[in-house]
Amino acid sequence: MPACRIWLKNPLAIYTANHFDASGGLVLNGGVIEQLLGAGERPAQACDQVFDAREHVVLPGLINTHHHFYQTLTRAWGPVVNQPLFPWLKTLYPVWARLTPRALKLASKVALAELLLSGCTTAADHHYLFPDGLENAIDLQVEAVSELGMRALLTRGSMSLGEDDGGLPPQQTVQQGQAILDDSQRLIQAYHQRGPGAYLQIALAPCSPFSVTREIMRASAEMAEQFDVRLHTHLAETLDEETFCLQRFGLRTVDYLDSVGWLGPRTWLAHGIHFNPEEIQQLGAAGTGVCHCPTSNMRLASGICPTLDLIAAGVPLGLGVDGSASNDASNMLLEARQALYLQRLRYGAEAITPEKVLGWATQGSAQLLGRPDLGELAVGKQADLALFKLDELRFSGSHDPLAALLLCAADRADRVMVGGQWRVIDGQIEGLDVAQLIADHRQAAAALIRDPAMTR
Ligand code: ZN
Repeated sequence: MPACRIWLKNPLAIYTANHFDASGGLVLNGGVIEQLLGAGERPAQACDQVFDAREHVVLPGLINTHHHFYQTLTRAWGPVVNQPLFPWLKTLYPVWARLTPRALKLASKVALAELLLSGCTTAADHHYLFPDGLENAIDLQVEAVSELGMRALLTRGSMSLGEDDGGLPPQQTVQQGQAILDDSQRLIQAYHQRGPGAYLQIALAPCSPFSVTREIMRASAEMAEQFDVRLHTHLAETLDEETFCLQRFGLRTVDYLDSVGWLGPRTWLAHGIHFNPEEIQQLGAAGTGVCHCPTSNMRLASGICPTLDLIAAGVPLGLGVDGSASNDASNMLLEARQALYLQRLRYGAEAITPEKVLGWATQGSAQLLGRPDLGELAVGKQADLALFKLDELRFSGSHDPLAALLLCAADRADRVMVGGQWRVIDGQIEGLDVAQLIADHRQAAAALIRDPAMTR
């Protein structure tokens, strides 16, 4: 990157996700934050560019820690609109089993573009479908991420426990253990970047207790340790899952996780709703993280994540939009708004502030992904930023700019920067033909549902 010092000057409001004051703005250089300026302060050195941010609310780039990009093809699909998790999954599995390489690439691009427009700069995806012909699923996602210039943590998901062996997914959607492990190792070696500023990382992510074997859980934990990558799975999302674990393993969810070597700081869990007080302490002592997915949890009526209890026990907490068949929008700022409202029902209005939920969407999420270089505005952190304008009708008459973002339902960034590069300008993604993407994606989504093999 050419040396270029930018002064992002005098923002309308700025949220740093820490105790630092940056009301005079930020100095960015070489893709990182070089200086934070207090009110009235000026950059220590001459800048090549000055960006006047007087109309912008500035946030650290939002970080999404749980998604299934491919599900953008099955948003708001009639047969599952009113179903809870297990029947929802059983109805969708046969549709998802027909996923094609072209459809997955389009779906990933749509999800990433949506996230980027909502102010998200780093996205984790959990992809666990590898039907015949789609063995290179993660490679296709790597291409989509690179085309949008975002950061991503792509997880090599897996399903190995089919219906024939007492699992939930149909047999044709599961893979053999060795094929999963071989591909996991290949992907880590091909794509996983290390250190500050990494754009692409790989993690291992067996899907859930009811869709993978104990053996693949154990082997994934061992491989993650060997290659120093993170571990991810769904856990304690519904009571159905708890019952499944008790019946099949004779253990509750967290004890099961412990029994397969997963209780530790490299693991982060999607949902984390149905924990008892002892389990919350166990997770905190282990440093295992939880990704709160409020919209999905409300849509499937799964329950409410005990966020503040988890945090009090020492559990890192972040946010995720979850897959688009259970959200169905990939919008990180609206997700923070949902977290604010859902968590107020559990903990009260005074305990759950806009700053707190924005902290989950930034610094907390960065912690889940093991990225101390992201999620905050501080000297030396990556220059990943989301800038919002409050010039639409919905903001008219608002006073506190930061609160207005969430309370007035801001849903689209005016500008987004990743590693010092503007990826969104005037609400448009640089270099992306959105109309063409929508046309191609809609066609792929219709084809997936239309398949004559579908019996419903
Ligand atoms: Zn999920």
